[in-house]
Amino acid sequence: MIQIDALPAFSDNYLWLLQDDASRCCAVVDPGDAAPVLTWLESHPGWKLTDILVTHHHHDHIGGVARLKEATGARVLGPAQEKIPARDVALGDGDTVQVLGLAFRVIEVPGHTLGHIAYYHEDTGRPLLFCGDTLFAAGCGRLFEGTAEQMHHSLSRLAALPAATQVFCTHEYTLSNLRFAKAVEPSNHATSKRFDEVTRLREQGGISLPSTIALELATNPFLRVTETSVKQMADERAGRDNPTPAEVFATLRSWKDQF
Ligand SMILES: [Zn+2]
Repeated sequence: MIQIDALPAFSDNYLWLLQDDASRCCAVVDPGDAAPVLTWLESHPGWKLTDILVTHHHHDHIGGVARLKEATGARVLGPAQEKIPARDVALGDGDTVQVLGLAFRVIEVPGHTLGHIAYYHEDTGRPLLFCGDTLFAAGCGRLFEGTAEQMHHSLSRLAALPAATQVFCTHEYTLSNLRFAKAVEPSNHATSKRFDEVTRLREQGGISLPSTIALELATNPFLRVTETSVKQMADERAGRDNPTPAEVFATLRSWKDQF
């Protein structure tokens, strides 16, 4: 059984640390800063960092990679299409990698950046998704490099994963995302309920992740662009008809940018 903990970094990043107690090996996803991982390793003698998984090239995801590689000799896995420091394994869509005895399938998810990848572990009991800055709890990443059409397509692929999939994204943006989700869908009870739950959780200092695909399908407006009420709200906002789901998505994304 792999245990997964969040190591907080910067103001709102989480470095996900996967731990295999049997082998005392661990892996980290998107270490923008090496310090929290090195501190964890110091306080857990006998543990070895074997793998560093990278989703995309932004500094808050790769800033600690070179130092961790140097300190631990861990293998660095990252997207083939982006410049990743000390990368050992270049990954593209459909590739499979073994990490701590788990098979992860790579899904290319362009939009936030053009070479962005996600790591998916298929498991009947506990499917896992590490999706970087593509799918957030109740939101999605900004379009820095890709188009709205690309991001919509990428999110559709993630939305099609099993409902029980645990979603490990990289930022604690959930509450502000839910404020926007409520503006898009004021009558969505699942969204209001989640907003109240996350508000309480954050007041108590808890973290709102991981999410699940089921919860995102129910509350994330960016995965709900085919809902009539979401389209109507997007049309109202844009002052015109959004004839395709991708255009509804584009309208929501630019609305959120100014929200
Ligand atoms: Zn990013």
